[in-house]
This record gives sequence, structure tokens and C-alpha cells, in this order.
Amino acid sequence: MFGPIFLIDPRAGFEMVSPLFRLRDASSARIFVTRHRTRLVGRRSILDIDPIGVSFDTRPYSSIIPVTAVPNLDPKLQRDFATEIVRTLRQRGFDALWAGGCVRDQLLGRRPKDYDIATSAQPDDVRSVFGHRRTLAVGAAFGVMIVRGPRGAGQMDVATFRRDAQYSDGRHHDAVTFSDAEHDAQRRDFTINGLFYDPITEEVIDYVEGQEDLRRRVIRTIGDPHERLSEDKLRMLRAIRFAATFDFAVEPATQTAVTEMAAEIDIVSGERIGQELRRMLTCDGRRRAAELLLSTGLLAAVLPEAAGDRPERMIDVLARAEPISLSLALAALLLDCGDAQQAATACRRIKITNRETERAAWLVENQTSLCGASTALWSNVQPLLAHDGAMELVSLHAARVALGEVQSADVGYCRERLAWPADQLDPPPLLGGDELIRHGVPRGRIFKRLLQQVRDAQLDARIGDSQEALALVDRLLDL
Ligand code: ATP
Ligand code: MG
Repeated sequence: MFGPIFLIDPRAGFEMVSPLFRLRDASSARIFVTRHRTRLVGRRSILDIDPIGVSFDTRPYSSIIPVTAVPNLDPKLQRDFATEIVRTLRQRGFDALWAGGCVRDQLLGRRPKDYDIATSAQPDDVRSVFGHRRTLAVGAAFGVMIVRGPRGAGQMDVATFRRDAQYSDGRHHDAVTFSDAEHDAQRRDFTINGLFYDPITEEVIDYVEGQEDLRRRVIRTIGDPHERLSEDKLRMLRAIRFAATFDFAVEPATQTAVTEMAAEIDIVSGERIGQELRRMLTCDGRRRAAELLLSTGLLAAVLPEAAGDRPERMIDVLARAEPISLSLALAALLLDCGDAQQAATACRRIKITNRETERAAWLVENQTSLCGASTALWSNVQPLLAHDGAMELVSLHAARVALGEVQSADVGYCRERLAWPADQLDPPPLLGGDELIRHGVPRGRIFKRLLQQVRDAQLDARIGDSQEALALVDRLLDL
């Protein structure tokens, strides 16, 4: 592979490439692939990465749908490697189990996207078992080592069993103490996330009634909800995210605690709030996510701009907007927020990318711009449909057809035009500034207006070539 620039969809996230390469600003980044190296270039950071295990979707950069980086991981190799790590640690006398999300996903019949391993081995032990070359000590202070697998198998977090001592600030634990599997389960957030699995004996190890809650389809904190949510306020959003993505209920006591503590979410950084919102608002269960955000008061706390007097309508638009993107989801929530400026302020607070912020604000600003498109002059509609955000704008209008706010004919018309080849949808201008100067038009305020009028005439097929364009210029100058 050589040369081209790809945009990584932040939804696919660097988490999928490797936890090591997640950019600090959690924004999208470009990836440069040359013969010699692969480099991620973000807004504030540049990282060279090991291209093994990464493959690229090669749709062009300008594509409306962001290009997604798909890690070239083979689920079977990943799973075998996760089993192999457990076997190797056992042979060296340590206890080791699969832990957390991968166990939950497997029991739900979903393919785990990665595997976390919990072990009695301490970071130094893990390093000596797997060797310096295959381990990375990024989180050693918390007991987390990364073990790199063979090509296609990815890499695994291998974390020492621990208990987290005190969360005096409601965000971070103050210290970690290494412990055993049972205490390691107790420190986790929700019962469904507190399960272990032994891949050798194929047994589930459950200290927290997680299996029962998976069967009952509920999100419940491990232990007292107030206590557990106070330790780390982000868990309030995680509860809603898991409920929405798995279509689970939030157990009543947990939900009551979230409702009572919702305002305290402000201690969590905008960036982490944004990451949770990104996941819950772009998943299939986003209607539930929004309903829960609204009913618990979290929406008012994290996105006060979304607090309009038509919440049902807002949630309806969010649920119907397809294909969903974060900008589109936020625009749906912010339709009634006042203006584009306010929408942008809301987006900036949750630290999504500039591009997404601009897009969301643009969508809010143009929320009615395509109404009447099918009977309007093409020159009025074309600039919107030639815009990078056109697909999302049409989706936003389409979501409002069922609510009687937009005519389906307008949406149909826009969709038809969006399917036009690029040079028909957005033909090259017949005239540019250079031609105007050569034609003897002096630079000045009139310049831009002339070009705009010529462009409109071109789009509305009142002129067909540059000669007719210059003739139009002469006529306009005569007026
Ligand atoms: P997914 O990766 O699909 O979001 P996950 O459950 O794997 O789900 P991670 O954030 O990857 O979530 O965390 C892995 C595990 O670590 C969780 O299953 C949970 O046991 C524990 N965990 C993560 N975040 C927290 C938290 N804020 N408080 C307590 N435990 C947590
Ligand atoms: Mg995970």
C-alpha cells in the first residue's frame, strides 16, 4: 500500500486498532500509509503505528460516508490466542480467566470484539512469562499489561486481579491493590460485566449474580447503587449505554440512584461524556438511550441545550434518522435549541471532533432548508445537496416525514438528485474569477455577486457555455 490518505471513522475508533493508539483528543485522525511506515495524524498528536492487523477500506476520502478502518483480526485466532494466554499462565502456576465484557458478550451470543484476561500474575510476572518483546507495560501501574499475539490475533489486556481503593474524586480510584478473582469481580461496575470465564474448562465463574441478570436482561450495579455510582459518576452513562445497546432494563434501584445523582455527572470530563454519548446515540437502541437520558435527568445535565418542550418529537427524529451518525443524532436532539451557535456550543462541551461539531451545527441551521426542494429553483437546492453533509441533511428531513413536518416528495426528489454522478450534481463552474478579470471586470464587491448570478444561471440551465456566461455578465453590468 502506498500513498493515499484515509479517514478513520472515530466510531470504529482506535480502540479497535489498539488501545495504545487511541488518540488523546479522541478525535478522528488521518492515517498515512507509506512503504516505510503507517502514521496516524490527529489534531494534537502524531503516532507511528505497526500496520500489522490493520486493513483499510479504500473508498475515497471525500466519500460522504466516513471511511472505516477495519482491523484485520480473525475472531478465531483472537479467541485461540486468548485461550493460549490463560493456558500459559496456568502452566506457570498462576490463576487466569477471561473477564468482563467478553464473557458477557459470549453469553449474549455476540462475538466479543476483544478479550480481557484477569490473572493472579503481577505485571512483572506477565512480562517474564511472555517476554519483553511481546509485552507492553502501558498500564502496569494499574496492573495492566498488553500481550501481543501473532498476526491476526490482535493483542490482549492482561490485568492483575485487583480491588480499587477509594474514589475520593468521583472519577479516578486513588490506588489499586492486587487481590483475587472475587474482589476483582466486586470492583467492576455492573453485574453483567463482573463475570469470568475459564476457557479451558468452559465454565462461567459468577460471584455477582451476573448470569441471572443477563437472563433477566437488567443492568444492575454490583453492590449499593449509590455507593458504586458515586465512586465513578461515568457509570451512570455506562448504565444507559449498556441498557440501550443490549435492549436491557435498568434495574429500578440503579435507575433511581442515577436519577438522584444525575446532576453530579458534571464532574466527569466532557470527552468521556462524549465518548459514551457517541456510542449510545449511534446504536440501534438510541431511542431507549434518549428516553433513559431524559427520564433520569442526565440529558438535562449533559446536554441542557436539548431541553426543548417537545421531547417526544426530538426522540422520534433521533430514532428515525438513518443512517445515523453522531452529528445527525446530536442535530436531532438539538433541533429546537435555538440556533446553530448554541448547537455548536453543546457539541464543543462534549469534545467531539471539530468536523462533527460543524456538521451538527450546519444540520441544525438547515433543518428546514430542503422543505419545498422539489418545486424550488435548482440553484437554491443544489448548494445544499453538493455539501459534504447532504446525506445527513436529507436523512434529517426524511426522519420528519412521518411527523408531518416534511413532504415525502421533497425527500424523494433530493435522494434522486443525490444519486446523480458527481459532475452532474455539482458541475464545474462555467466562469471563474480569472475569466472575469480577462473580460475586463474590475475586482471588487460586484465580483462575487456576478459569479454567483452566473452560477445560478448555469444551474438553472439558463446558460450552457462560457460564451453565454460572459454575455450574461455583460447584460448584468449594463443594468
Ligand atoms: P465494551 O468494550 O463493549 O464497551 P466492556 O464491558 O468490555 O464493554 P470496557 O470499558 O472495555 O467495557 O471495560 C472492560 C471491563 O472493565 C468491564 O466489563 C467492567 O468489568 C470493567 N469496567 C470498565 N469500566 C468500568 C468502570 N467505570 N467502573 C467499573 N468497572 C469498569
Ligand atoms: Mg471492552
